[in-house]
Amino acid sequence: MTKDELLKKALCCNRCGTCRGVVQDEVPDVAFSTQCPCGMTLFGAYEPSGLMYLARGIAQGDLKWNDDLAKILYSCTMCGYCNDFCQRGYRHTPSNEILEELRAIIPDKFKPKAIKSTLKTLDIPRTNCLGVLAGYGVVDVAEGRASTILFGDNTIIANAAKLKEIGFIIKKSGKKVGCFISEPLPPVSTALLNGGFRAELEASIAAIDSRLCAAGVKTVIVYSPESLSVLKRFSRSGAEFVSITRFCADLLKSKKIKVKKLKLGAVTYHDPCHLGRFSKEYAAPREIMKRLGLDVVEMWRKGNNSLCCGAGGGVNLNRPDLAKKYADNRWREIKATGAQTLLTACVFCNANLHQGRPKNIAMADITSVVAQALGYAGKEARS
Ligand code: SF4
Ligand code: SF4
Repeated sequence: MTKDELLKKALCCNRCGTCRGVVQDEVPDVAFSTQCPCGMTLFGAYEPSGLMYLARGIAQGDLKWNDDLAKILYSCTMCGYCNDFCQRGYRHTPSNEILEELRAIIPDKFKPKAIKSTLKTLDIPRTNCLGVLAGYGVVDVAEGRASTILFGDNTIIANAAKLKEIGFIIKKSGKKVGCFISEPLPPVSTALLNGGFRAELEASIAAIDSRLCAAGVKTVIVYSPESLSVLKRFSRSGAEFVSITRFCADLLKSKKIKVKKLKLGAVTYHDPCHLGRFSKEYAAPREIMKRLGLDVVEMWRKGNNSLCCGAGGGVNLNRPDLAKKYADNRWREIKATGAQTLLTACVFCNANLHQGRPKNIAMADITSVVAQALGYAGKEARS
């Protein structure tokens, strides 16, 4: 993006400030009245409109990068709320693109070490447990064709227990599903956008695309919402990318499927930004909870108004103190529901929300819950 293009986009923001506030008619109390995780925790410059003016200043040359501006930029979780909210109004400030561009153009010396390390997310872990899937009938694409595959990304490739749960669910579906087991596909991650490494991310996705096309893959089931959102956005393969949550919801629709009643007490569900706002999948987790007969108590802020847990944007890596504060904000809402179990659908939300978890509220990954309801007897996987 040229400076002129950045300026043109940043000028869309007239600092109306509406994206800082919540959209529901009723706000439980004043502490709940803002929506941007960094804006509600810090102050003006950290709010979306502050960040948009930062972009304007940089594009116009009125502001020069320094440590303070870098601190503001890396306090944002890239949750997408401001982008999404602005589109609902009379303007459209493409704040996601602007924030990604700022992270791409900031001089290297102001980039925190933890953010630079996000390039490592392109390394495939040495431990490859994808072979576990073969025990559940999943074929290695190197040995046989499959038009539907599971994307074995870095959030699951070394997690044998999680792969067993997923394999069990796939077997229950009776569908022929493959996976690039012996030669895994290159990993992808939104962390690369947080680090300003968009070109590297696109190169990784181009490599994935060529292998999907060569193997004739039409549908890709994706476990991690962060992988899902970037694959949906950048892939040119023509394949359809489906979340594991949607796959489970569709499976549970089948009359042939019998489910066990689970003892989870009242449950509430946290919408991960990359499954919800970025991939528009709000319905599947709720269909699952309904089909499993769970006693659901929704948070007052849910769906496209869901509050980010604080894990995104590299904040958890770079500013763990802030990520904890953001998680505490979400916990205030979780606790207000009176739920005994919090369900999530993202390993990163799961990890960030684990800090500050009250002892009387359990947490579970919705995929694990589906596996158990279908009769999976193995140990519950840690996400
Ligand atoms: S991003 Fe949109 S909603 Fe937010 S302050 Fe700017 S114009 Fe207003
Ligand atoms: S992306 Fe999220 S955290 Fe960042 S400015 Fe927008 S609402 Fe705030």
